[in-house]
Amino acid sequence: MNDDFSSSAPRTPLTLLGTGAMGTALGRAWLAAGHPLTVWNRTPERTAELTAEGAVAAGSAAEAVAANRLVVACLLDDASVGTALEGADLTGRDLVNLTTGTPADARARSAWATERGARFLDGGIMAVPPMIGAPGAFVLYSGDPGLFQEHRDTLAVPAGTEYVGADPGLAALYDVALLSGMYGMFAGVTHAFALLRGADVALKEFAGLLVPWLNAMAGMAHDTAGRLESGDYTTGVVSNLAMQAGNDTLLRTAVEQGVSTELLAPFVELMRRRLADGHGDEDTTGLVDLLRTR
Ligand code: NDP
Repeated sequence: MNDDFSSSAPRTPLTLLGTGAMGTALGRAWLAAGHPLTVWNRTPERTAELTAEGAVAAGSAAEAVAANRLVVACLLDDASVGTALEGADLTGRDLVNLTTGTPADARARSAWATERGARFLDGGIMAVPPMIGAPGAFVLYSGDPGLFQEHRDTLAVPAGTEYVGADPGLAALYDVALLSGMYGMFAGVTHAFALLRGADVALKEFAGLLVPWLNAMAGMAHDTAGRLESGDYTTGVVSNLAMQAGNDTLLRTAVEQGVSTELLAPFVELMRRRLADGHGDEDTTGLVDLLRTR
């Protein structure tokens, strides 16, 4: 979608290791944009959808790696990347790993690939397969800046690109931090519906209020970032901890409605600890420091 080449310019050929749900979506986008694609999958039958659209199936991962300089892996986990590439010659290859893993996995895999003569870029896909090739999908990248610059147009075909730094662990760190923010929101939405479940209310109408409310509140992340960077946790605070944590309405309402407090209580508890430590004039920024264990 973001390919800058004119329609007649030759497209970079590439290899894709892994044609599961995500790999297949990525492969389809490259094929649709005219990139010659070599594919390999542990279970060969799963390459059928892409070969029907013009991809060439390699007989082994080593053969697939030998076919092109640019090699994209989209496998289950980091261990499967190691297993798949065991017998492959990575000398002179540009390995882009879109397999989900931890920052430490990415750093170790980068060192492993570099030792074998490859350049390495790690990626975190911020999309589900149906979003690939459509606006809104993006991939976080970190690692070799030269590799990223050189293949940026090809990488931008299935999804937008966000390069976050040369440390190969950063894409995974951003990925998990974004997902963690999302799960916090899921937890809040889950608790909110549990409160209303037994009441005689139209849940769809409530959702119509909840979504704009969450959107309006999401901007607090900018305030938190600014306070953490400046070290000033109190200037301009409009909803302080003395007000938020000193009030037990949230937990009492849950109990009144017959709803477990297990999702909400840990956050309330953190606010109370920070309040008890004498920070009633702050907002929730200081909880970030409470969570750090080192
Ligand atoms: P699938 O389960 O559909 O595919 C998994 C792929 O990994 C298959 O190609 C599978 O091969 C291969 N595989 C598993 N174990 C091994 C192994 N030991 N050796 C070699 N190959 C192996 O998963 P997805 O395609 O959905 O996910 C792929 C990656 O993309 C994951 O890291 C996932 O976290 C990430 N991702 C997925 C998203 C999604 O919504 N689906 C969203 C964002 C990231 P085989 O067919 O032989 O089993």
